[in-house]
Amino acid sequence: MTTTSIGNTPIRRCDFLSTLFNTNVFIKEEFHNLGMSAKDRPAYFMIQDAIKAGRIQPGGTFVEASSGNTGLGITIIAKQMGYQAKIFVSKSCSQEKIAILTNAGAEIEICDNSNGLHDFHSTQFRAQSFAATHANTYFTNQYYNTQNIRAHYKTTGPEIWEQTQGKITHFLCGVGTGGTISGVGRFLKEQQKNICIWGIEPEGSILRHFLLSGTVPNEIKPFDAIEGIGRNFIPGSFDPQQIDTIFQVGKAETIAMARAYRDETGILSGFSSAAVLASLKRYNKEMQLNPSHTVLLFFPDHGSRYVSKLYAETADKQRETVKTHP
Ligand code: PMP
Repeated sequence: MTTTSIGNTPIRRCDFLSTLFNTNVFIKEEFHNLGMSAKDRPAYFMIQDAIKAGRIQPGGTFVEASSGNTGLGITIIAKQMGYQAKIFVSKSCSQEKIAILTNAGAEIEICDNSNGLHDFHSTQFRAQSFAATHANTYFTNQYYNTQNIRAHYKTTGPEIWEQTQGKITHFLCGVGTGGTISGVGRFLKEQQKNICIWGIEPEGSILRHFLLSGTVPNEIKPFDAIEGIGRNFIPGSFDPQQIDTIFQVGKAETIAMARAYRDETGILSGFSSAAVLASLKRYNKEMQLNPSHTVLLFFPDHGSRYVSKLYAETADKQRETVKTHP
């Protein structure tokens, strides 16, 4: 990709997790991207595609519905190319992400939910309405834009294949729009069809049900927010053909795993990254991992974006220490 520092992120072996789960665990660290998340990749592809197709003129405004990361990628790339960004985020978005987006220059609107286009109060509906009623705007629409899957098929998948020298046996990542798992899954399965492509979502999200049955559940309930993952509608960028299994985890076990990983490694994992860790712990028996496997965990962003949600207890303790030892 041409915008500096998008893609070609490193992978790192994690000895702690390798020992804990008796296999070889590698982590793809997507916080090395320009906007510090994996979502810079689809943001770049969607923007380039819209400009090339003449769907927006210089100085126009890119509009997106986002849990924060795609919005930031869009904002930075748009700005560097001479465009504006208007981002619709749901009220569950962390205060850190909202502060970062605002600093990057996005105009932000906070919506009730991200339930999809059929809900008048959702980020997606509000973004689409805004773009439809304002001149020289373009709704990138990551949930249905084919460039979302394509970005991961063209960049993330090949990087992972090359960085693991074709040894990867399992790919684990959180599922939100489905772009990452669908694009990476498709590329990896084209190289070696037996690679396990495993998604992770919060309990109550409906993608697992859809994968297993091809239908949506009769009753759709609200579910625990693990930022960036989980859906109560089926996005167009979710391709069940590329996915073997979806595991579900809870918010409490995710937070516990984020803290355990931090205590061992000193690294703050992002919220959805910690959900992947929680799935390894909870489904350890079912996963049947062993030392012959090469397991790649996808970390889309960094825990610095979720200090208030995941790591606040340490921040509080630290403030007390600062007070008592001036
Ligand atoms: N984790 C985080 C932190 C994210 O921002 C996203 C994107 N919403 C995801 C996971 C899920 O990625 P995808 O949309 O490609 O399924």
